[in-house]
Amino acid sequence: MKWADKTTERLDEMQRECSLEDISDGKRYQGEDLAKVDCQDCVGCSDCCHDMGNTIILDPRDIYELTKGLQQTMEQLLTTTIELNVVDGIILPNLKMQKQGNQCAYLNEKGRCRIHDIRPGICRLFPLGRVYENGGFSYFLQDKECKSNHRSKIRIRKWINLPEWKTYEKFVLAWHDYVKATIERQREASEEEKKQICVRLLTVFFLTPYQEQDFYAQFFQRIEKENDLNNTM
Ligand code: SF4
Ligand code: SF4
Repeated sequence: MKWADKTTERLDEMQRECSLEDISDGKRYQGEDLAKVDCQDCVGCSDCCHDMGNTIILDPRDIYELTKGLQQTMEQLLTTTIELNVVDGIILPNLKMQKQGNQCAYLNEKGRCRIHDIRPGICRLFPLGRVYENGGFSYFLQDKECKSNHRSKIRIRKWINLPEWKTYEKFVLAWHDYVKATIERQREASEEEKKQICVRLLTVFFLTPYQEQDFYAQFFQRIEKENDLNNTM
């Protein structure tokens, strides 16, 4: 495993085979904690932008940033740099590895990220992962995954480096909980309902464009509406 994406409950599956202690330093961190993740700008290394299969799963904020920053629609991105895949029974977008070089399309010829400022949340997080428990989440360090031997300590909030930190973490948790609940709902659904659930999630959170201003307000409005709808069903 390279990317510990806990958007879904994949960690639960992983923990059946190995414990958090096997893949990390055994500690759980919060955003204000220092962790040894600063790989000094990845100089000379782009290991975690290669051979990632479909594991760099994108969330609605990632799609908002990519569509806004690259001035492309989700549909346009789907013809080039991203793809859809089934994750635990639901369909989510992920960065597509290109046939040539089996690498992310946003990696340039010098091995640097062409979209550094708007790179997806999982790219920002690595080599950290998230573990969700007790109604919240904490971070853990995948200490065997980053190839750099010269990592220094940095505050996790600074490493991920996104504005509106508290709102961002609130978004991460809300999206995780929504995806988890959707996975559970579709497990008990008929084949026809499963399709409807997948299409609705994709349409509401990914295919319906976001206005350029204030992503979080738009996201929370959408998720609140969806949660209300699901609670009345
Ligand atoms: S493996 Fe570590 S040093 Fe290499 S690109 Fe990834 S984060 Fe940077
Ligand atoms: S978006 Fe950038 S950091 Fe993320 S995998 Fe692609 S090249 Fe690497």
